[in-house]
Amino acid sequence: MLNIIISGAPGSGKGTQSDLIVEKYTLKHLSTGDLLRKEMAEKSELGQMVESYISRGELVPDNMIIDILLKHIENQAEDSNGIILDGFPRTVAQAEALEIMLKKLDKEISVLIDVKVDENELIKRLIMRGQTSGRCDDKLETIKKRLDVYHTLTEPVNEFYKNSGKYISIDGMGTIAEIFDRISQTIDSKR
Ligand code: AMP
Repeated sequence: MLNIIISGAPGSGKGTQSDLIVEKYTLKHLSTGDLLRKEMAEKSELGQMVESYISRGELVPDNMIIDILLKHIENQAEDSNGIILDGFPRTVAQAEALEIMLKKLDKEISVLIDVKVDENELIKRLIMRGQTSGRCDDKLETIKKRLDVYHTLTEPVNEFYKNSGKYISIDGMGTIAEIFDRISQTIDSKR
């Protein structure tokens, strides 16, 4: 089983790289951001509850997002070799909850891959994405808030996985293919 967390600041390319990893290693992709945007598009009760957090660039409360993940992590497709978590865990409390969830399922995280990109490049990429993504949180003021939230609440998750020897950082500057090559080498070294 290959259970990967792909981490990194907003704009680090986690989503793009996840798609490539899913295809190469046949993993189930769990992106909490995508799950939340789907709920918002469907205007579900949950979607309406989370919209204000997302549009302000804040995190959705831990208990809400943990419940959502719990629902999706349990029904893993039979033919996949594991999961890739993209955008989760984003707080240490989420990481702790994840460990408990996985233990119950008799699974564990193989590696956390942290995709590192310069702050100026992140802002540039997110502003560019905002021109076509239609995402309510891809505008400068919200981007800055999301980066702040990332440094304060999400970066400590790296320490959590450093302590268990599962943390690896990857240079996230360069072309999509170059970055994917670095990530593939890391995954192959863990198999
Ligand atoms: P993303 O697509 O991963 O950049 O997520 C977009 C937004 O969804 C974030 O800015 C948060 O508001 C919310 N979100 C996604 N994943 C989480 C999470 N694990 N915990 C809390 N909020 C989340």
